[in-house]
Amino acid sequence: MPKLPTWLANTVEKLISNKIYQVEVLETKMLSANIKCVTFKGDLTEANLIPGNDVLFRVNANEYRHYTLSQFDENHETCEVIFYLNRQGPGNNFAINIQKGDLLKLIVDKTRVKYNDSSSQHFFFGDETSIGLYESLGKKALEMDEEYFGILELNGENFDALDHIKLLIDAVEADKDSPAENAIRWMENMHPKCWEMWKYATFYLTGRAKSVQKFKKYLKQKGVGFNQIITMPYWEVGRVGG
Ligand SMILES: Cc1cc2nc3c(=O)[nH]c(=O)nc-3n(C[C@H](O)[C@H](O)[C@H](O)COP(=O)(O)OP(=O)(O)OC[C@H]3O[C@@H](n4cnc5c(N)ncnc54)[C@H](O)[C@@H]3O)c2cc1C
Repeated sequence: MPKLPTWLANTVEKLISNKIYQVEVLETKMLSANIKCVTFKGDLTEANLIPGNDVLFRVNANEYRHYTLSQFDENHETCEVIFYLNRQGPGNNFAINIQKGDLLKLIVDKTRVKYNDSSSQHFFFGDETSIGLYESLGKKALEMDEEYFGILELNGENFDALDHIKLLIDAVEADKDSPAENAIRWMENMHPKCWEMWKYATFYLTGRAKSVQKFKKYLKQKGVGFNQIITMPYWEVGRVGG
């Protein structure tokens, strides 16, 4: 999202007031040194949420950042976001400062990465910023009794965060200078039968732009069709906004 002058951001918020929901922070929990899970409470019944729904927060006077709902429960009026604390941008500062009892505006945005209902196998690739999406779509796969699996490239200190989501998932250490490489090596070590079995899966690639690009190239080399790959780059080193 580009930076907006404060007056314009305020005007836009008036125009999209039907997409803005007041929420209260019920709980915050550190899942690892740099991963913070926040549970919000608010009436979101009008929001028509679906798994993997994107949301926006105004992180300062001029900027908005995208995040993903990792869970929502309309009956209990709760939803959850898993923030990666990258220690750099205003989104990170906003997330670090979120505390129990805060009242915040949650903007419901369109969902960019949707569960493919016509597929019965779902494979996820991403990083810390993708944990929320993975939790949301992985749980949908469980509900539907469909197959799912994934590989995340994470910084070592964040591996523990995966215990929270209680889903099948594997992780490799991220290498900043060789995006996706460790994940591709992990794929190469898979039993050839796995490729055979996952031939018609849907592949959801999110997270760092360069990793998404490389992993997509690799999948295409392996014969995966364009229409089986859903990509959404979330961030890149040196780029501002997500
Ligand atoms: C549709 C969508 C859904 C998303 N969902 C989530 C989510 O659920 N949880 C989540 O944590 N993020 C999510 N993101 C990613 C998040 O919006 C970006 O990481 C965003 O850049 C963070 O804003 P910031 O202000 O902290 O950093 P920015 O001001 O945008 O960036 C400043 C600098 O920080 C660095 N940086 C930014 N992000 C990262 C990172 N992840 N790792 C390392 N360095 C980084 C870059 O060098 C960048 O130049 C999502 C993005 C999109 C587009």
